Amino acid sequence: MAMVVPKARTHLSADALFGLVRNGFAHIPDDRLSEPDMALADALMAAFAMFSLKAPSLLAFDKERAEGNLHTIYGIERVPCDTYMREILDPVSPKGLRPVFKSVFRQLQRGKALEPMVFLDGHYLLALDGTEYFSSQTIHCASCLQKVHRNGAITYFHQMLGAAIIHPDLREVIPLMPEPIVRHDGTAKNDCERNAARRLIAKLRQDHPHLKFIVTEDSLSSNAPHIETLHAHGLHYILGVKAGDHAYLFQQVQAAEHAGRVTYYERHNRSAGLVHRFRFLNDVPLNASHAKVRVNFIEYWEIGQDKVQHFSWVTDLRVNKRNVFHLMRGGRARWKIENETFNTLKNQGYNFEHNYGHGIKNLSVVFATVLMLAFLVDQTQQLCCALFQAVWAKLGSKRLLWERMRALFYDYRLDSMRALFEALFYGFEKSRPLLSIDSS
Ligand SMILES: [Zn+2]
Repeated sequence: MAMVVPKARTHLSADALFGLVRNGFAHIPDDRLSEPDMALADALMAAFAMFSLKAPSLLAFDKERAEGNLHTIYGIERVPCDTYMREILDPVSPKGLRPVFKSVFRQLQRGKALEPMVFLDGHYLLALDGTEYFSSQTIHCASCLQKVHRNGAITYFHQMLGAAIIHPDLREVIPLMPEPIVRHDGTAKNDCERNAARRLIAKLRQDHPHLKFIVTEDSLSSNAPHIETLHAHGLHYILGVKAGDHAYLFQQVQAAEHAGRVTYYERHNRSAGLVHRFRFLNDVPLNASHAKVRVNFIEYWEIGQDKVQHFSWVTDLRVNKRNVFHLMRGGRARWKIENETFNTLKNQGYNFEHNYGHGIKNLSVVFATVLMLAFLVDQTQQLCCALFQAVWAKLGSKRLLWERMRALFYDYRLDSMRALFEALFYGFEKSRPLLSIDSS
């Protein structure tokens, strides 16, 4: 088989995607009543640039800003100061950002960048999971969730339901528009993850009516109403289950075991010193009260030299000895939404939990959503851009990559993100001999 060097996919480059995002922001309706002196798109793009550059705080960003590069690279006509940016963005409805996620996704599809992410028979694996990204006893806004303690104290917090296309063999994840879990106008009741999941799934189908998905989630999601929602929207699933929470299901499996209806399967990986052991059973009721919701059950043990890991799932995909190993890998890949998505956003320079400013209405949610968008663009680079991959490999860590990227951005006049990555990649090797000649 001949090796084919992939052509640079210019429409998936950082510069092209920044343009796409900027254009998407320009189409978001601006509801400000008075004649605005700064475009909403500029304020949104300034927030996007802040997350794209992983500037640790708005203030640092403000002080160090290189207006020229913000104009040239991020297409910001007028750069707002941090206070003004927050003021403009606070009333913005986060749902206006949805089409921007969709247009980046379209670009990925057009560039065939998602093809390596297909998991099974043309289906993508879509992980859903909730995360909390803000908590305070004092700072709060109209969308904060609230927990009232016994002593009357209140904890204010924000959560979102994240969704990302994942693949067991790939580090990259492709996040979709997250669903905020917030208090809605005029209600005193907290929103919850289950309601958010219902909204997210309905919108997912509006945005991508024909895409094939296998949804993977933790055991909190393995309940009959949620499974019916997935089914109603034509989504397959692999969901975690636990013996403690799904006692009836496990009893049914035990009964089937006694009746000799459970299938066992083992696969040995001698080089890794692992045994993969499965037992599975098709067509069992999930619980006693929803007997018509029937699922296929997989239990799995990964047996190593000195450690045994145990997992169990339910799925609507019929399980057999040929596919059980692959389905297990799909179920286990779910952790990527926690590890490769939320933990990356919290610990890899994105400062997800950092308080960039909370606002009184929507700011916190707008920032979290724009941050996810910046992460989507970064993940696209990581998946598709050979230059980005080379710079990352050379510097060895994302943290160092973001640090060097910011340093160049603030200190040098650059024409494009590509020029910045090229300077990061070639600069280290080529500049040294030149400097030694200069100093002689
Ligand atoms: Zn809040």
